[in-house]
Amino acid sequence: MTPATPPADVLDRYFAQAVEATLEGLRAGDGGPFGATLVDPAGRIVVAVGNTVLRETDISGHAEMVAVREACTKLETLDLSGHVMYATCEPCPMCVAVMMWAGITTCFYASTRVDAADNGFSDLRLRRFLDGSDTSALDMIHLERGREDCAGIWTEFQRRNA
Ligand SMILES: [Zn+2]
Repeated sequence: MTPATPPADVLDRYFAQAVEATLEGLRAGDGGPFGATLVDPAGRIVVAVGNTVLRETDISGHAEMVAVREACTKLETLDLSGHVMYATCEPCPMCVAVMMWAGITTCFYASTRVDAADNGFSDLRLRRFLDGSDTSALDMIHLERGREDCAGIWTEFQRRNA
């Protein structure tokens, strides 16, 4: 079931926080023009953050990623089920993945992937890789030999969780 979109004033408040965090970060040289607000199931803002790629020298410092990391730390949980992400721009597949890993099932976004691409932030290469239409960007090679070497990890994991 698709969740209901919040009332306009509530939506505006969440997006305003994300925009503010983004602009603050931009001015400080923290990172790219992206921000996100994460809201808990009761509608309270948990974090509002901007992109931190430059500040942290972290290629994965996208706003949604940062929001999930900070929220997990703040709330001391790996499970953000019921939380809702408000992103200034359509999240890239990496951020979609981290939201899914955290159990987030709703994300509202404003600018689109096309707006991002028009401003020099295209994630099309990644999208094409994931949909299988162009896998030339990354060679993913399965090694049967390595699989055997790594089998002990599974054994240790099972032993520890028995
Ligand atoms: Zn991203």
